[in-house]
Amino acid sequence: MTHLASLHAHLQKELKLKEKPKVFLASDQKNAVKVLGGTAHYEPETKTIRLNTTDRHPKDILRSYSHEVVHHWQHEHKQIQGKGKGEDTGPQYAQKDPWMRQMEKQAYLLGNILFRDWEDSKKADDKKTGKKVNEKTMKIGTEYPPRNLKGVYK
Ligand SMILES: [Zn+2]
Repeated sequence: MTHLASLHAHLQKELKLKEKPKVFLASDQKNAVKVLGGTAHYEPETKTIRLNTTDRHPKDILRSYSHEVVHHWQHEHKQIQGKGKGEDTGPQYAQKDPWMRQMEKQAYLLGNILFRDWEDSKKADDKKTGKKVNEKTMKIGTEYPPRNLKGVYK
């Protein structure tokens, strides 16, 4: 959660978001066993980012968050409407809808480079302050985030 908050602060600063999106950390075992299962999505109607967390590396979850925040930013600038509930977007909207393809490209490019910038600066800061990163202390088989942290965050 501290990493998510730190990443959000970075994205907020870079994208100058008007509003903070709601975040839902979802646990979905059925989805987790599917090779091409869902990772995350953004619902413009409720301004909610849903992150699937089960059996994923924390860094992968954070990278997903960065991608979805770009969709939130696109929505704030009225570049996407109706995406998320499936009424305007079929399973191949990223291939068939030229505008949505551009939106997707932007989310990958911007989401990933903003994530990379945050990661590098966080590592440099942690090194400077001598902060121990506790990622290595997580036991195999433990859930991330812990069960009591699940729910809707604002
Ligand atoms: Zn996307």
